[in-house]
Amino acid sequence: PGRLEGKVAVITGAASGIGRETARRFAEEGAKVVVADLADEPGKQAAEEVGGLYVRANVTDPDDVRRMYGEASEHFGGIDVLFNNAGISPPDDGSILETEMEAWDRVQNVNLRSVYLCCKHGIPHLLERGGGSVVNTASFVAVMGAATSQISYTASKGGVLAMSRELGVQFARQGVRVNALCPGPVNTPLLQELFAKDPERAARRLVHLPMGRFAEAVEIANAALFLASDESSYMTASTFLVDGGLSGA
Ligand code: NAD
Repeated sequence: PGRLEGKVAVITGAASGIGRETARRFAEEGAKVVVADLADEPGKQAAEEVGGLYVRANVTDPDDVRRMYGEASEHFGGIDVLFNNAGISPPDDGSILETEMEAWDRVQNVNLRSVYLCCKHGIPHLLERGGGSVVNTASFVAVMGAATSQISYTASKGGVLAMSRELGVQFARQGVRVNALCPGPVNTPLLQELFAKDPERAARRLVHLPMGRFAEAVEIANAALFLASDESSYMTASTFLVDGGLSGA
């Protein structure tokens, strides 16, 4: 049997990058997958590829998030896994001396408020099943200074990490595990967009990567798979770094 046989997983930001690859890996391992995103076309395509359900949801909107879990639960009969992965890293999020408040608010909403809402409205579904696994996508920037100048992004991911740790402790006795997945730089549209704006940044980043290369999305998806499955049954409130040695160097 697959490593997620019989489990229902809701993945946000599953139309692209890490989320999309994770939808594929989860399905390969027997999960029923709900692809949640704002991008309808690639979202529907991704859902079709994995034989899953596409739900359009803006994860910053409480009504959308409630409806997303409602539809997922109704369609598949319950929810076991939340992969709260949608996020943005906009090029206009720069140094604290220059960045606009607007970028700060937008990034906190999409990256941090979303995880709050997804946990708030998703965890009750896991409790109904007697337990489950929540994986929140943070980043290596939550644990190390990386001189990225993306102050709003870094702060939002620090928030995701702290919230995951706290919720992991709070729900430990109720069978709901909550872990933060912290990828290093991953070759996805998000990173490609950043580097297209500032090509030197890619070169600088590579110099500091012990492995000398960026991660492929599937390498992060495999880590999400481990955290989502019962193989990680003794892990909660943890910081799971998958960063090619970046934070260890
Ligand atoms: P991506 O841009 O390829 O995919 C992100 C997806 O999230 C997109 O499909 C987008 O439509 C969706 N999304 C954005 N805002 C949304 C909203 N309000 N509601 C619903 N969906 C929304 O990015 P990715 O690289 O796959 O990133 C996934 C996660 O991994 C993000 O949280 C990102 O911060 C994190 N991360 C990425 C890297 C990297 O180097 N790529 C490194 C560390 C962490």
